[in-house]
Amino acid sequence: MSILVVGSVAFDTLKTPFGERQKILGGAATYFALSASFFTQVRVVGVVGEDFTAEHEAVLTARGIDTRGIEHARGNTFHWGGEYGENVNEAQTRFTELNVFENFVPKIPEAYADSRFLFLANIQPELQLDVRRKMPRVALVGGDTMNLWINIKRTELLRTLKEVDILLINDGEAKLLAQDNSLVRAARKVLTLGPRSLVIKHGEYGATIFFGDGSHPFRAPALPIAEVHDPTGAGDTFAGGFMGYIASQPKLTPSVLKSAMFYGGVMGSFTVERFGPERLLTLTREEIEERFRVFRNLTHLD
Ligand code: AMP
Repeated sequence: MSILVVGSVAFDTLKTPFGERQKILGGAATYFALSASFFTQVRVVGVVGEDFTAEHEAVLTARGIDTRGIEHARGNTFHWGGEYGENVNEAQTRFTELNVFENFVPKIPEAYADSRFLFLANIQPELQLDVRRKMPRVALVGGDTMNLWINIKRTELLRTLKEVDILLINDGEAKLLAQDNSLVRAARKVLTLGPRSLVIKHGEYGATIFFGDGSHPFRAPALPIAEVHDPTGAGDTFAGGFMGYIASQPKLTPSVLKSAMFYGGVMGSFTVERFGPERLLTLTREEIEERFRVFRNLTHLD
């Protein structure tokens, strides 16, 4: 089963209490694709510039990711500067250089038309909607967004949300979107905007899924980690594990959704151990299963 992801393929310049890195491979679609590739076939739609080399692309293709939907445009790749203080859950944006992203119009290769799953990673909501409409036959649509779009493109975002099945956002974004400081009330409100399920990520404290049909929410843990070297991409990696696991299963049942929440947490916990997507490049399926057992033991009551 294939997942198509549309989103940023980027260079990130990062500063955390553990060090600094200049222009390393990043972007929401990159983290999502690498993470989901451990579970299923992944296809990427995005745009990069002339500074994006064959070696950068090989990081994705080495994991079997289909990159034919990554357009190579004139100019520089999207470049994001982020910094984290002692609070690992909160990134401060230092700069955003849109570069080739500015005039990006997503083009979906013919070969991607049969994708069963679609993930709208964090980009302008109009572009998300455009891709959603170009993929009418997908079985399930996941989506993400960020404070920036909730603040400056609310109308466009609300239009996009009507066509998203599962929205994955963090606590702050959920409260901002619902304009309500109670997380539970915010979740209920967001579930009236379109999505049938809502995954709220709590950074280092795990994630909760809320359901539109009124069934009980379910919370998955995060692994208590002593040294978070770089939280960048944790959310997208979570989404990749979550959607990737769902795509690998024959049917979407409540139990599959719960396991998907655990796999999302497992994948996120690996990413933050190293800078950028580094840890995902050496990861094995055995390590993922081993950590899945650790996650189970963390919350299992005999
Ligand atoms: P996360 O830490 O999972 O929320 O996502 C981090 C990734 O989002 C980084 O790799 C950035 O390149 C990417 N990013 C940051 N700002 C934006 C933006 N405005 N649009 C698209 N992607 C972004």
